[in-house]
Amino acid sequence: MASSTGPDHTVVILGAGYAGVPMAHHLLKRTPANVANVRVILVAPNDALFFNTAAPRGLLPVDDTKNSSSNPKGTPGYGDDRLFYDLAPAFAKYNAGGAKRFEQVVGRATSLDPDRQTVEVKLLAGGEAKTVHYDTVLIATGSDMTDGSPFKVVSYGGTAETKAALAAYRAQVKTAAHIVVAGGGLTGVEVAGELGSVYGSKVVGGAAPAAPKSEQKEILFVINEPLPLGVYGAKESVRQTAADRLAALGVRIVANTTVTAAAAASAPGGNNPQRTVLTLTDKAGKTSTLETDVYIPALGSTVNTGFLPERLLDTSAKGKRRVRARTTLQAEGYDNIFVIGDALDLIGPSLKNVTEQLEVLAPNMQAYLKNWAASQSGAKSGSAAAAAPLKEYAVSNMIVLAASTGPAGGTGQMGSMKLPSLLVWFFKARYLGTDKAQEYADGSRTAQNSKW
Ligand SMILES: Cc1cc2nc3c(=O)[nH]c(=O)nc-3n(C[C@H](O)[C@H](O)[C@H](O)COP(=O)(O)OP(=O)(O)OC[C@H]3O[C@@H](n4cnc5c(N)ncnc54)[C@H](O)[C@@H]3O)c2cc1C
Repeated sequence: MASSTGPDHTVVILGAGYAGVPMAHHLLKRTPANVANVRVILVAPNDALFFNTAAPRGLLPVDDTKNSSSNPKGTPGYGDDRLFYDLAPAFAKYNAGGAKRFEQVVGRATSLDPDRQTVEVKLLAGGEAKTVHYDTVLIATGSDMTDGSPFKVVSYGGTAETKAALAAYRAQVKTAAHIVVAGGGLTGVEVAGELGSVYGSKVVGGAAPAAPKSEQKEILFVINEPLPLGVYGAKESVRQTAADRLAALGVRIVANTTVTAAAAASAPGGNNPQRTVLTLTDKAGKTSTLETDVYIPALGSTVNTGFLPERLLDTSAKGKRRVRARTTLQAEGYDNIFVIGDALDLIGPSLKNVTEQLEVLAPNMQAYLKNWAASQSGAKSGSAAAAAPLKEYAVSNMIVLAASTGPAGGTGQMGSMKLPSLLVWFFKARYLGTDKAQEYADGSRTAQNSKW
């Protein structure tokens, strides 16, 4: 090895989402060569960054005759080009000139052994098992949608399967007359808002007319509380505004009701075999059935930590089997296991939290590598005094919430302040972040930091 490079160090990053992708870039771009000769192995079932926060618009058919950026009302849906960003070209620069600094392993981690420092991976293509060794590992495996809907990478596949699931929804939405969205969190509100903006019988303010009668669809939004967004502790006025904006688009809210079963409708005529029969249960326990052309569940997420040993997990009710972590974003008991994002037990799951954690994790992994390299060099500098300190992630419980109700705007809350629709439109609703997505995948920015 050339004397100007530090010792070899393999960092395995599990998960290629909003957390894993920027961290892989940061390590490859920012680790000084004289500290460590870093090699990054990125393990994930998706070979493209899925810009999933824009996925509510991805369920709508794409209409190439309309320009979604200049026509913020009645906007067509987002196609794969707006939602998926191939990772291979984004990382090719690190292997220029034959360097082998970056490797992409397309598969899912199935187990991790902290003592042997290995991860078992089931490859997506073919399903074979592969053992990957690490010096340091970053757990960024996030969460899946509980009901399997493609607002995250689908649990049974990768990029292609997620694209196919979105395409199936687009096709169904296009021909549907009746659509049911269930789940009163951010995803449900945003999906109902997108549908209402294009197919609703009314439109909130402005010049855009409601959808022509022939294109209108009945859109029902089933929520198990009086108003949406209760799960985040949002104030009443924000929740009321979300409901009012959806109602004004022509979305009908079915409040205090839960979808307790969903089954394919029998289709004797074979006309539309994809219709679904839903069982609805109200707060009093009364059940009813409802048949719909398209059912879109948005019922929450499940953390992807099933491959980890039990001792790494926070099994308390609050911890929800996320990784037990210290404020340095290292797992309890293991300095060489870092964790970030939806898989972390310190705070709730959100992109906003990922963005803040990246600002702590990136310097911490650099400091950790520096300390590791110093101890490797035999300079006996492993003393606490010589070690570079790691930063502490300050957990903030301030509510920051921005819910778009279609491309025209939305509502939200920052601390105790309600956000005006114009602000939600400016920062979120008009593009749902996709105007920055390519740079995000390329490693030149995070959601907030344009100098990544
Ligand atoms: C529709 C929608 C809209 C949202 N909008 C907002 C918003 O406006 N603001 C906000 O703050 N938050 C929002 N969120 C939440 C936000 O999407 C998540 O907090 C964020 O995606 C977390 O990022 P992550 O990188 O930790 O995990 P994820 O995005 O879940 O990525 C996890 C990665 O790990 C991979 N993976 C999973 N299992 C394994 C395994 N066993 N081995 C290897 N890889 C694995 C996945 O395929 C993926 O690549 C939204 C969520 C949804 C669903």
